[in-house]
Amino acid sequence: MASMLVYRGDYGQLSLEEHICPEPATGEVRVALDTALVCSSDLHTIFHRRTAPTPLVLGHETVSVIDCLGLNAPTCDMQGIPLSIGDRVIWSVVASCGSCEICSLGWPQKCPGATKYGHAMLASHEKWTGGFAEYQVLKPGTGILRIPDHIPSKLAATIGCSTATVCAVLEAGGDVRGKVVLINGAGQLGIQAAIMAKSSGARQVVCLEARPERRADANRMGFAAIAPESMSLMLPDVTDGAQIDTYLELAGYVSDFPQLMRHMAIGSTIVFAGAVFPSPALPLDMEAVIRKCITIKGIHNYRADHLVRALAFVSAHCDVLLEYLKFGPLLTLRDHAAVLQSGDSGAFHRVGFTGR
Ligand SMILES: [Zn+2]
Ligand SMILES: [Zn+2]
Repeated sequence: MASMLVYRGDYGQLSLEEHICPEPATGEVRVALDTALVCSSDLHTIFHRRTAPTPLVLGHETVSVIDCLGLNAPTCDMQGIPLSIGDRVIWSVVASCGSCEICSLGWPQKCPGATKYGHAMLASHEKWTGGFAEYQVLKPGTGILRIPDHIPSKLAATIGCSTATVCAVLEAGGDVRGKVVLINGAGQLGIQAAIMAKSSGARQVVCLEARPERRADANRMGFAAIAPESMSLMLPDVTDGAQIDTYLELAGYVSDFPQLMRHMAIGSTIVFAGAVFPSPALPLDMEAVIRKCITIKGIHNYRADHLVRALAFVSAHCDVLLEYLKFGPLLTLRDHAAVLQSGDSGAFHRVGFTGR
């Protein structure tokens, strides 16, 4: 028997339960929990800001240690590094079939036959998919990466959701070299996106952020930061009158979309990725989109190659990420009430569970 935290649909509640953890089947890898972070979307589910099929085990920003390799399980990770018992690994949020039409079109995260870790309803054959548990069982079609020793587990755990998603969002935003990038939200995704955009050659990165302490952090990192309600007043000063080439929406809301459209440049790109919960419809000025030839894209999750790029990014930017990402308590599964309380306080980018 092993422990898992089950979300059964009750507001703000997880229950610690014991279930039998099977040997991995053919092609599967069983891993034992090292660190599972509580993503904002987990909190949205637990605190009823969005719905999810229940019962389920949440958690999809996870680092675990290989515990048992099933028959014909992968012997190497996605970069060709051999996998052995005891290795620390992360994995893609989705295990996809790799051969259907949707997978072939380059959207494996939308594969109709996919298993989505930390999102799948608990079933007798599908129990150990969430991070908030002592074990996870990784299915064939999962992108697995071994974590280099110099990356601490709590930082490595961010890769499986937020960092890889940021890689997909930056890719959707196009080449940012020499461009002005406006990022809505300076939380964990926003900070990672700002560093990634700058290191990809952006001329200027500006953050829109409601919380003063997060604006101060962005300033310390060398990025201009503006309160959303001051955008129109301050943006022209901050950018020396330049318009926005790339707008990345990572906060889940846009306070004044018509104003934003006035600041977008000819041929600019808008990427929506933050609103992974029901959000108010935006008033869209079609004429502005047409006359400025603006491209609008939505991005949800990511492909396996984004996970590889995300690991390289974190590996190269460990120090700055550890300095600016605010990690709260990392406690045992048994301490779930304290972890959720800290997570919902908003004081930290991430809190989480540790299996050690
Ligand atoms: Zn997430
Ligand atoms: Zn597929």
